[in-house]
Amino acid sequence: MGSVTLNNVTKTFGQLSVIHDVSLQIEEGEFCVLVGPSGSGKSTLLRIIAGLEAVSSGQVMIGGRDVTTLPPKHRDIAMVFQTYALYPQMTVRENMGFALKLAGVPKPEIARKVAETAEMLELGALLDRLPKELSGGQRQRVSMGRAIVRNPSVFLFDEPLSNLDAKLRSQVRGEIADLHRRLSTTSVYVTHDQIEAMTLGQKIVVLKDGRVEQAGAPLELYEKPVNTFVAGFLGTPS
Ligand code: ADP
Ligand code: MG
Repeated sequence: MGSVTLNNVTKTFGQLSVIHDVSLQIEEGEFCVLVGPSGSGKSTLLRIIAGLEAVSSGQVMIGGRDVTTLPPKHRDIAMVFQTYALYPQMTVRENMGFALKLAGVPKPEIARKVAETAEMLELGALLDRLPKELSGGQRQRVSMGRAIVRNPSVFLFDEPLSNLDAKLRSQVRGEIADLHRRLSTTSVYVTHDQIEAMTLGQKIVVLKDGRVEQAGAPLELYEKPVNTFVAGFLGTPS
């Protein structure tokens, strides 16, 4: 259902080549972390999977289906952003139900899904608040809730913790790990933080200058880094 495959994906912006021949296989239910320094192409690759950027060449498959030319709404994905991207004038309840409303889901079903998801994320008491009345951690949970209610085959996260302070960051990181244990939804998670990558990833893909340096299980990368960049980046002596 929710596997993600990239075949020989490249992306250029004008003259600038930012993704070079990336091939990647993410299994159904896997938590895959894309890690690499700023500018290495992580967000671009995630946006390509989401359908927010078109590839210059190559193929994107989700759940065994070629989605290369499909718009985001036909890809069965939901994205969680670093900036939450909540609608400021809508309550938590309305924010969480909005995508379902647009999709024409009947009201009672929206109410049920929002209530169920809010309970899972301990947002039940906050449903009538506006985003400005929430803490950063609560806003990020609402933004995850908004993704979860849609029950997508794949979650895409772009540095969801980077606007949180250190304490909240480790708390929400734990919540994301719990969520994956409960829902087992295929997840692609972008970060430049090695600790996030090592603690969350079942598979880690190390990017540098738009190329995959190495992909594998955390222990494999830790014990057998293919080069000094991977070793240095993941904090092991080379
Ligand atoms: P990361 O998320 O790893 O920091 P990005 O994917 O955002 O990296 O960016 C990779 C490269 O692509 C950078 O050099 C960035 O400046 C460039 N880039 C990203 N988006 C655009 C765009 N819309 N137009 C031109 N260049 C872009
Ligand atoms: Mg980025």
